Amino acid sequence: HGLTNLLIVQKTENGDSKREAEKVDLAEQSLLNKLIRRSLVRNRNQVEVLQRDPTSPLYSVKTFEELRLKPELLKGVYNLGFNRPSRIQENALPMMLAQPPQNLIAQSQSGTGKTAAFSLAMLSHVNPDNKWTQCLCIAPTYELALQIGQVIEQMGALCPDVKLAYGIRGNRLERGVKLQEQIVIGTPGTVLDWCTKYKLIDPKKITMFVLDEADVMIATQGHRDQSIRIHRQLTKDCQMLLFSATFEDSVWRFAEQVVPDPNIIRLKREEETLDTIKQFYVLCREKEDKFTALCNLYGSLTIAQAMIFCHTRKMAAWLTANLTKEGHQVALLSGEMTVEQRAAVIDRFRNGKEKVLVTTNVCSRGIDVEQVSLVVNFDLPVDMDGNADNETYLHRIGRTGRFGRRGFAVNMVDSKHSMDVINQIEMHFNRRITKLDTSNLEEME
Ligand code: ADP
Repeated sequence: HGLTNLLIVQKTENGDSKREAEKVDLAEQSLLNKLIRRSLVRNRNQVEVLQRDPTSPLYSVKTFEELRLKPELLKGVYNLGFNRPSRIQENALPMMLAQPPQNLIAQSQSGTGKTAAFSLAMLSHVNPDNKWTQCLCIAPTYELALQIGQVIEQMGALCPDVKLAYGIRGNRLERGVKLQEQIVIGTPGTVLDWCTKYKLIDPKKITMFVLDEADVMIATQGHRDQSIRIHRQLTKDCQMLLFSATFEDSVWRFAEQVVPDPNIIRLKREEETLDTIKQFYVLCREKEDKFTALCNLYGSLTIAQAMIFCHTRKMAAWLTANLTKEGHQVALLSGEMTVEQRAAVIDRFRNGKEKVLVTTNVCSRGIDVEQVSLVVNFDLPVDMDGNADNETYLHRIGRTGRFGRRGFAVNMVDSKHSMDVINQIEMHFNRRITKLDTSNLEEME
């Protein structure tokens, strides 16, 4: 489908500039994050709150009890293992549940509790005695809509009178017969059809509208337009809630269009740092030599888990096969895998079933595996012009300060050019990258 694809142009193994385009699908990335995440991400930054009316008192809650939820809903929250509200939930929940209703724009990285927050808000908002759709929630893809639906179903498991319908492709219903489900979650296209063409939903009776993953949504022109067309059918009194993991100007302009007079909550991402990482480089000749160096390295260190980055799928596959031959248990994360397959590989690695994960760049965004103590750049991260890609370097080996665990990064240098890249990275971060002799590894200990 037509989601914005970032073009990542790869160099071939021998370094000539034949380009191989690989697509990063924003919605897939988001789904992958959801599939592999089992708990909240940690973040020490302050939540920023901008109130529509700065003179009104700012409510925040430290417990779910303070929200005065229906008992069966509170129980549902606890049954999910949530003990207390997350950072963003502390402020967002009282705002979303306040009377009179308030609009909200909330931005925080994936894994900070946004989905759980608006799911709770919808479940709390509906009147189960009213057998019509009251809450409408749209997400960028079928799969993401299903993920949200699952959260609502689990959280609302003890609220049997609250019903949920999925406005997603393939879900064909009889025209003109109004839905009785109080909550509809779906994708913009189908939901728009349900409101207009099929008249399954009366948009004038919607009192809470949730737009999730706004950044992913607007990356597709069609979704953006459909979202706005749905939004236009709603009444002025409808409560508007918009969530996004990132906030570029384009997202912001869209948000302001959809959410009038908003309260705004932001939680900045915790910065990655190289401070707790020891960085090395190893001089090698070609890929076989790099492989030997890698084996020496791995054989002589006590390493919890390692991640190895390659530039191409082909190289990743070659490396995996050879490491396996040497008797290592290796997992491979590769671009041709489905999101579900990738999630399964990451899950196994997290559980320690494999000690080594070989991957290309595209697959590994957003994976944080705390126990990884060694990151190897089998190929160095470079941009289209062959210059150091500092941002990717930081993503691969950087850690958030909180974990503070020591780690090692080893860069394989196989040409004068890649030595230049190392020098560029060194200069950019102003951190020493030390030469390492893999036949004499004492200096690493
Ligand atoms: P986001 O929508 O920002 O990506 P989610 O709502 O999906 O975040 O939450 C991320 C993870 O944290 C999920 O596994 C979710 O079950 C869990 N979670 C959410 N809120 C809480 C909470 N208050 N306490 C514990 N875990 C939570």
